[in-house]
Amino acid sequence: MRETSLLLAAGRALVDGELVPDAWIACEGGRIAAIGRGTPPRSPDRLLPEATLVPGFVDLHCHGALGSAFDDDAPEWDRILGFHAAHGTTRQAVSLVSASVDELVPRVAAAARRCASDAALLGIHLEGPFLADSHRGAHDPAALRAPTPEAVERLLEAGEGRLLQVTLAPELAGALDAIARLVQAGVRVAVGHTSADAAAARAAFDAGATLLTHACNGMPPMHHRAPGPLPAALLDERVTLEAIADGEHVALEVLALLLRAAPGRVALITDAMAAAGMPDGDYRIGALDVRVDRGLPRLADGGAIAGSTLTLDRAIRVAVEAGAPLEAALAAASAVPADAAGRPDLGRIRVDAPADLVALDGALEVAAVWRDGVALHEAS
Ligand SMILES: [Zn+2]
Repeated sequence: MRETSLLLAAGRALVDGELVPDAWIACEGGRIAAIGRGTPPRSPDRLLPEATLVPGFVDLHCHGALGSAFDDDAPEWDRILGFHAAHGTTRQAVSLVSASVDELVPRVAAAARRCASDAALLGIHLEGPFLADSHRGAHDPAALRAPTPEAVERLLEAGEGRLLQVTLAPELAGALDAIARLVQAGVRVAVGHTSADAAAARAAFDAGATLLTHACNGMPPMHHRAPGPLPAALLDERVTLEAIADGEHVALEVLALLLRAAPGRVALITDAMAAAGMPDGDYRIGALDVRVDRGLPRLADGGAIAGSTLTLDRAIRVAVEAGAPLEAALAAASAVPADAAGRPDLGRIRVDAPADLVALDGALEVAAVWRDGVALHEAS
C-alpha cells in the first residue's frame, strides 16, 4: 500500500551528493517533499540515529538471483527483484544474455510487458547477440552474430520502446550503423564483449555509444602499445564505464584506478546471475553450464568467469575498501548509473525526486529500503 506521507530522520544523509549530519527527509505521494537538518517538522515515522540515508541503488546490468534468470521461460520476477531490493537496488535493468534473434524476440516482448507495469525496471539490456566470439565470456558462441539492420529492427520492435541498453562489439560488420540506429531509437549502446582496438572503440563512441560494458572484462587488456577500448573510454567524457566491484572481476587497485581516472563516470553493476543469493553449486547462464565456487561463477566448460553473485551494497563496500571516498562509491551505485540510463531524476536525494531511499548501518549493510516512499525491505 502506498504511504502518502513518510518522515525519516537519520544520523546523516547523502543529500545531492554530500554527506549531511542530523538530516531528515519528508516524503509525500512517493516523492521527496522536503529535506532539512536538526529538529524535524514533526515526530519522524522512523528515527535512524546510527544510519546513513542514501539514494536507492540503480543497477544497469543484472541477469537474475535466487536460482532464476530473466532469460528463463518464466522468470521469477518478484523473487529476483525482491532479492536485489533487499540489497538496496530500487531500480534496475533486465539484462538478457545472447540468444538467437528468434529466441530473443519473445523474451524481449515478455520483458517489455513486465517493464511497462513494474516501477523497479528501467528497461531491457540486451547483452548480445552482437558480440565478438574472441571475448564472448559466458555467452553461447552459437548465438553470436553481426548486427544486420533486420536483426536490429526485430529487436527494437519486440522491445516496444522498453530497450534501455544494447551491448555490442563495434568491430563487427554493420556495428556502426547499428549504433546510430539504436541511439536514434532512444537506446543506449555499450561497447563490450569486444576485440576492438582503441580506434574502433573511439569510432563507436563517436557513432553514439555511451557506455563500456563491465570495464576490463570481455575486452583486450590495456597494453601500452595496444591500448584497447579501456583508455578510449576513460579519456572520453561522454562515456560511462560499468565496473563489477566484487574484488574478483577487477582487482582493487584497478578498480581504484578506474574510479580516479573517470570521476563521476564509473557505474557499479552487479552482473548478477541466477546464483546470486544461492549456495555454491551448478547453475546455467542461457544455454551454458556454470559452476559457482566460493561465490564466483565460472563456465563448467573452460573456466571463464561467468557473471557474478554480487549485490550493489557489497559493491559499494568493495569500492570503499579499494579506497574510494564513501560519497563517490555511493554515487557510482546511484547518480552515475541513473544518468547513464537517461534518468537523472533517480539516484539522488533532492526535493521532487522519487523517494527511493536506503538506510545503511555503520558497516554499510542495508537496514531498510524504500521506493517511491514505500517500504520494500527492513532488516530483521
Ligand atoms: Zn558480460
